[in-house]
Amino acid sequence: MLFAATLTYNVEVNINRQQSTLPQKTFAQEHNIDEQKICKHAKRVVKTLTDKGYQAYLVGGCVRDLLLNMTPKDFDIATNATPEEVRRLFDRSRIIGRRFQIVHVYYGREFLEVSTFRAQVSGSGSSPNTQFNNGQITRDNTFGDIDEDALRRDFTINALYYDLTESAVLDFCSGMDAVEKRYLRMIGDPSTRYREDPVRMLRAMRFRAKLGLEIETDTAAPIAECAHLLTDISSARLFDETIKLFHSGHAVNCFHELKQHGLFHQLFPMTEKELGHDPQLQDFIVGALGNTDARINIGKSVNPAFIFAVLLWRSFQHAVTQRTRHGKISPESIWDAGRNTIFRQASHTTIPKRFAITICEIWKFQSRFERIRSRQIPEFIAHPRFRAAYDFMCLRTLLGEVSQAEADWWTDIQACGPEEKQLMIEKRPEPKREPKAKSRASKSGQQSNSSE
Ligand code: ATP
Ligand code: MG
Repeated sequence: MLFAATLTYNVEVNINRQQSTLPQKTFAQEHNIDEQKICKHAKRVVKTLTDKGYQAYLVGGCVRDLLLNMTPKDFDIATNATPEEVRRLFDRSRIIGRRFQIVHVYYGREFLEVSTFRAQVSGSGSSPNTQFNNGQITRDNTFGDIDEDALRRDFTINALYYDLTESAVLDFCSGMDAVEKRYLRMIGDPSTRYREDPVRMLRAMRFRAKLGLEIETDTAAPIAECAHLLTDISSARLFDETIKLFHSGHAVNCFHELKQHGLFHQLFPMTEKELGHDPQLQDFIVGALGNTDARINIGKSVNPAFIFAVLLWRSFQHAVTQRTRHGKISPESIWDAGRNTIFRQASHTTIPKRFAITICEIWKFQSRFERIRSRQIPEFIAHPRFRAAYDFMCLRTLLGEVSQAEADWWTDIQACGPEEKQLMIEKRPEPKREPKAKSRASKSGQQSNSSE
């Protein structure tokens, strides 16, 4: 409702065009798409639109993944109905976005994204509904035909449409060839397309890592010189893209691709600097990303805070050291070091407050593993943040900060029954009390009184 007034003048269709380019069509006997794998709500949305006389197709990642025999993450729909027309057809729907208006159609708590075919507009800013700023598209709401829509998608593999009425794949940009031969090719001039939207470079990394596609030389070449353009992207969007990369189930590959193409530095400059003079840090990061991949691939939940806690650990440790006075640090200073580290990262990728708190808790808990008194152990293990802190502590063996025996002790105590647990606690030597004055900094850069 909110957007109805603005939408009436957004319906701009490219009227100068004579005729559409015809697609290459691939019918059921020649492709391997199993329609059973298509979400029933997506089928329903397409049917509602086509019953009303509109064109509507599945598009993008879902068609690509179905062709590659993978399970699509989501199902996107493209149509020639305007956002307002789509919204009127579905009671539970709303128009979202200003830069790029789309409609969310809700089914329970899930929703499908329905986008109107967009036309390609040149970088001169010739349409009021498509705006550019130094070559970057800041608004993209000029509507067009399906063949134009195909050309403004990013990679050829992402510009395939699936026609449910004919069970046919529609291909305007040789996307089928790219799927079959497994390569990633940017549509149009790669350098211009990265300038229009630098996030496409991050998307390239993700598709390379996730789908094992070869990035074509021409598509890969401009990345080095365009990498710095990511600084023009909002830190909130970069946070979302970072999560997509590291929660793709292929985080280790994504990390290596980002590093190799000079993009990791744009997202995590502090971490990149640390990596330069700390070879063990890479093992620590790769270990954590590997655990995340393993959890995702068996359907376990993951918290974005964990990855950020890992990536920023060294910066946090330095911040702690800076706040250490006469070998001591107060609990307030620990929080301050955490807040400061997160603040410095947030100018590159936002870190929402709920995650920031979890990150600080994971860090703060690290000193408890070494310093906790026996009687506090059961309560510590029962803490809701214990599990994440424990996983983090185990990874610190890769940095040489925690001994394997210590990590094993914490692993064992969680696995045993109440009596055995009690026995383990009794046998555990109490940590030495801190001398009143001047204590040496622990290896983790934190002090004994930091967490209690
Ligand atoms: P996945 O959902 O598996 O992450 P996807 O390709 O479906 O991959 P989405 O973000 O869901 O990614 O986008 C859906 C489609 O929208 C893409 O396949 C592509 O055609 C188009 N698209 C998304 N982002 C861009 C972009 N930055 N530039 C051009 N086209 C894009
Ligand atoms: Mg998708």
